[in-house]
Amino acid sequence: MIKSTMMDFPLTLPHLVERLGLFFPTVEVASRMPNKSIHRTTYGQIQQRAKQLASALTRRGIQQGECVATLMWNHAFHLEAYLGIPVMGGVLHTLNLRLSPGDIAYIANHAEDQILIVDDVLLPLYEQFKDDVSFKEVIVVSLTGEAIPNEYTDYEDFLLTGDCSFTYPDIDENSAAGMCYTSGTTGRPKGVVYSHRSTILHSMASTMVDALAISQHDVVTPVVPMFHANASGLPYSSILVGAKQVLPGPHLDAESLLDLYESEQVTLSAGVPTVWLAIKEAREAEPTRWKTAPNMRMLIGGAAVPESLLRSFDTFDMRIIQAWGLTESSPLATLGHLKSNLNDLSEDEKYAVRVKQGIPLPFVEIRLVDEEGVIQPWDGKAQGDAELRGPWITSAYHKNEEADDKFSKDGWLKTGDVCQINEEGYVKLTDRTKDLVKSGGEWISSVDLENAIMGHPDVLEAAVIAVAHPKWDERPLAVIVVKEGKTVSTEDIRTFLADKFTKIWLPDAVETLAEIPKTATGKFMKLTIRDMYKNWTWD
Ligand code: ADP
Repeated sequence: MIKSTMMDFPLTLPHLVERLGLFFPTVEVASRMPNKSIHRTTYGQIQQRAKQLASALTRRGIQQGECVATLMWNHAFHLEAYLGIPVMGGVLHTLNLRLSPGDIAYIANHAEDQILIVDDVLLPLYEQFKDDVSFKEVIVVSLTGEAIPNEYTDYEDFLLTGDCSFTYPDIDENSAAGMCYTSGTTGRPKGVVYSHRSTILHSMASTMVDALAISQHDVVTPVVPMFHANASGLPYSSILVGAKQVLPGPHLDAESLLDLYESEQVTLSAGVPTVWLAIKEAREAEPTRWKTAPNMRMLIGGAAVPESLLRSFDTFDMRIIQAWGLTESSPLATLGHLKSNLNDLSEDEKYAVRVKQGIPLPFVEIRLVDEEGVIQPWDGKAQGDAELRGPWITSAYHKNEEADDKFSKDGWLKTGDVCQINEEGYVKLTDRTKDLVKSGGEWISSVDLENAIMGHPDVLEAAVIAVAHPKWDERPLAVIVVKEGKTVSTEDIRTFLADKFTKIWLPDAVETLAEIPKTATGKFMKLTIRDMYKNWTWD
């Protein structure tokens, strides 16, 4: 038998860090600071500082496989953590600053985060949960230029304890590199752990010409937060090819983004539809104000892309590429490009293809499974829960055996997205089995809201459903049954919930019914309720 003569070479992040220094040291990374000024650095400097961070963390006693958390916006210092933490064998745990302080504390404790690196402007958020966590050290990055309070470590001082001639430890390509919790299923947030190998393979697949075609000549702006599934992996894929990055910091409004796209001539950006809807409105209001780069590409995922958005962006020479994926899939699973055999379709037919979620990337395998476990055909009509497998799809949740039912017996991830697939292989998302509301790219648990509303003294029963919203994709609508002789208004419920949830979670409307439709076993029939309100309009 002939044996392969190829080397068994590990797919690990130190290679990417070394490449930055060898080939792209002068490529710039521009970051918007809280005061809107632009901070400029280079990959050469980022490489040196990432190695210094790796060395400092090692000297501080962080062991391989231990988590270092970040609570940060998108900027160059976060990029240093993206590289410095995994190359010393640590696990980069990006905390989602949009979650409630209670959830952030739960997640940090569950992941056993050892150290926190936090933006100074996010210290007020940290201070809301600091009594519930016990980091060995809290390291603060001064984005404002102001002095760091004495009880914390200044990031720059911490770096000085490290050495940029750091020697990488041996790292197994299957060891943990990064971690991200998702609330995209019911119950407590669940941890997904990316490996070095999955991160590298996801980056290589993303940069392919028929994927995002990221070249060294691109200028890339992830608007999707770096705490949300590694900003769609864009920081790593840009580093792999040496593409300039322009990071928006905390300024995510349409005008700030368009100013940045114009001044830095950004060629590829990524975010959720809510961001692009705001950009669409701004551009339509002032069509000649911004001169963005020719053929700019916009990666949109996290929620379905309306056809009107595709059409509108085409008129601004900004080409939308729709992506579907989950935190569990690193996140890119499918991309909505037109295949060459569809070139002769009419304009309208092409849009009908582009509103679909697209075809899987190489090495992502998909199947549709109905409620009885029967695999469904790809005929564009049959539907089922989409299941995925592949080298950057998670096979479990971190320390969470209860969630084993999210995986099939033969090892596929059950996404909870109900899809159809046509003969061409295009996936179309039609519904969701996850009982959640997705508002502006972030999850709201309908179950948590229902339980809290049912604690109101005048409420008998409550069901919360997701209803389509023109700006936020979806917003929560609460349907309640009140106790005899009582009346309860939307304001009453919002006031009642105000100290239990962050503002974006509060239902925008509360409808009173005589009875909530239930199944034979007494469960709320969410699909029926969703159907009752499918023509709901928000005023
Ligand atoms: P992300 O928002 O980064 O995709 P999450 O894990 O927060 O990751 O959310 C994943 C879920 O978002 C999917 O399971 C699906 O319900 C929804 N989603 C993602 N992309 C799309 C899309 N293109 N169209 C419709 N829904 C999408």
